Amino acid sequence: MPLDTVLLKRILLNGIAVLIGVILVTSPGRTAVIDHFPLVEDAVGRAVVIIPDDSWPIATYAAEELIEHVALRTGVSLPLINESDLLEDSKDQVYRIFIGSTRHAQWAGIDVSGLKPEEAVIRISKTDLFIAGEDGPGDPLDGGHAWSGTLWGVYDFLDRELGVRWLWPGELGTFVPRSNNLVVPSGERIVERRFQWQRVRQTTNRGRWQNNPLIGFTEEGLKSYIEAENIFLRRHGMSFSRKPSFGHSFGGWWPQYGEEHPEWFQKVDGVRGPTPGQNENRVSMCVTSLSLHNKIIEDWIKELENSDKTPALRLAEADGRAHCECERCLAWDGPQVTEEELANMTRSMQRSYTRPRNASDRYARFWKLMHERAEKIAPDVVTTAYVYLNYFVEPSDHITFSSNVHLDYVPWTGYWFPRRIQEQEWLKEQWMGWQKTGASVSYRPNYFHDGYIMPHVFARQFAEKFQFVEQNGAVGTDFDALKGHWGTQGTTLYLLMRLHNRPEARVDDLLREYYNAFGEAADMVNAYFDYWEAHITRNRHNFDVGQAELGASRLRAYAKFAHQFFPPEVFSEAEAILDDARSAVKEHPDSEYARRVEFLQLGLDHARKAAVLGALFADKYSSREQREAAYRNLVDFRRKTEGWFYSNLVDAAYIETSSWNNEPGFIGK
Ligand SMILES: [Zn+2]
Repeated sequence: MPLDTVLLKRILLNGIAVLIGVILVTSPGRTAVIDHFPLVEDAVGRAVVIIPDDSWPIATYAAEELIEHVALRTGVSLPLINESDLLEDSKDQVYRIFIGSTRHAQWAGIDVSGLKPEEAVIRISKTDLFIAGEDGPGDPLDGGHAWSGTLWGVYDFLDRELGVRWLWPGELGTFVPRSNNLVVPSGERIVERRFQWQRVRQTTNRGRWQNNPLIGFTEEGLKSYIEAENIFLRRHGMSFSRKPSFGHSFGGWWPQYGEEHPEWFQKVDGVRGPTPGQNENRVSMCVTSLSLHNKIIEDWIKELENSDKTPALRLAEADGRAHCECERCLAWDGPQVTEEELANMTRSMQRSYTRPRNASDRYARFWKLMHERAEKIAPDVVTTAYVYLNYFVEPSDHITFSSNVHLDYVPWTGYWFPRRIQEQEWLKEQWMGWQKTGASVSYRPNYFHDGYIMPHVFARQFAEKFQFVEQNGAVGTDFDALKGHWGTQGTTLYLLMRLHNRPEARVDDLLREYYNAFGEAADMVNAYFDYWEAHITRNRHNFDVGQAELGASRLRAYAKFAHQFFPPEVFSEAEAILDDARSAVKEHPDSEYARRVEFLQLGLDHARKAAVLGALFADKYSSREQREAAYRNLVDFRRKTEGWFYSNLVDAAYIETSSWNNEPGFIGK
């Protein structure tokens, strides 16, 4: 049937709704649309999904993801078959969706080997739809999976052609616009990757702080949460197999080598080695020591001799500040900040220049020198290091690197969101300063350790910085950490995920995607998150002061001061907005929209209960019985609701335990 006739028939049968559907699924910027490919028409499946006979698990999984989301949109489950089961003449199989490296894709001239790593091709013609990228073995849900091209192609298709939005882990967090029809315009595009690696680190395993089932998830609850979060992260394209090896390289060197080679280590007040009270495993190095350089190169050569691939030369300092004040190290440093300049800086900025001094040039020279030595032995060597603490400020202009020097840009100590405009701008300058050295710079912030389970919302300012680094050469991202409090920090976390694949989008448009998943309550949910973001922004200075006064780490002990910024009256105002949201969807109390409002309500109730408990822990006149009763109340709530995934209870339990010094198992003893 000629296309015009098909279109005409559709219009006659289904009225204008179908036309709107066709227009909606058309991406902006595409050239003239000639043909259309039907997946589902009038709630009848038209296409069959085909995978290679010897498909890698990743392509099979990609096909299943496609089928699952098409079914969510249309109610129709498309059949999945192997390529050899495809009957060329069958009328039922006129419309064919080829997923992965099928023979048909090769015959159609689709050559995935010509793509950049992890890219995919989407080609849509009148009868065939191809989604293919370079695939490889391994678990499709493993973020370290090396070859996931086809999966990224499918997710791009679901995003652009179906309007699928993954708001948070689990079924309720998956929003798919409904329609009886799914007809997509023809065309071809390459699905590019914005970053060589993109990662948001999960906190479902806290090492020795591993989930405490007495106050956190039940074992079963944890299992389902991890599963849902893994699926969710992959849907947002998280993949870090191409990140070179980084790590704090000299941790533990002092106990091992200090006696024999004190000259490798920091010299402070005339003494080599740890200062009084310093953690022995975090003693910093004397990076101008030639004998240290030789040791590093010798170790690396040994590694090289035992590897198939050239190992990275890892030069990141032990997890701490650079302390050496020997003459040579001081001579390698660049100009130091003046008192006058310091006077115009925020406290956090001052700490980057002092404590004890700005050592950026010293470390930059060290990395450069070492890289050049290693490069003479293995020209393809990649050198890795962290731009961090007091070697974070941009280096002097004359410092340049090969792009094989990889630097993780790690802002720390005090640059929490929301921050002052002065700090936001200054941080951008430091980014540009490292960028212009020629090194490959990746974005590795610790900002998301903040906020505990509270509605600590900082979506917009975070997004501004993210878009800045993406536009200015970031080769990868590695966010520490995904705390996963989806019910209270939803918009911030949504942007964190979404910007990885749509960094060019307007932030308001991305936020609108989130709000639209609440149907008639969209505007109220918008107001709700705006309320929290304004509250947090207004209090940004107080957060700094609050934690400083209590000596509480914002990283580990936010629960110690949360009640100060989230008193009962602040919750009441938010509650009133959510009441309006509930009213907006009350006609359909069982709808997905109403349940999403309920999800936000659970997040709010959870945060409020925890704030009450925090106030009790802070009140020295409260009794143990009172605290236990309040904790019991909180934990009972968690038991009943953990399957909603509004909060990662591993992290909640971890922050509470380190804030209140309650023994794990406080409840139930
Ligand atoms: Zn030194």
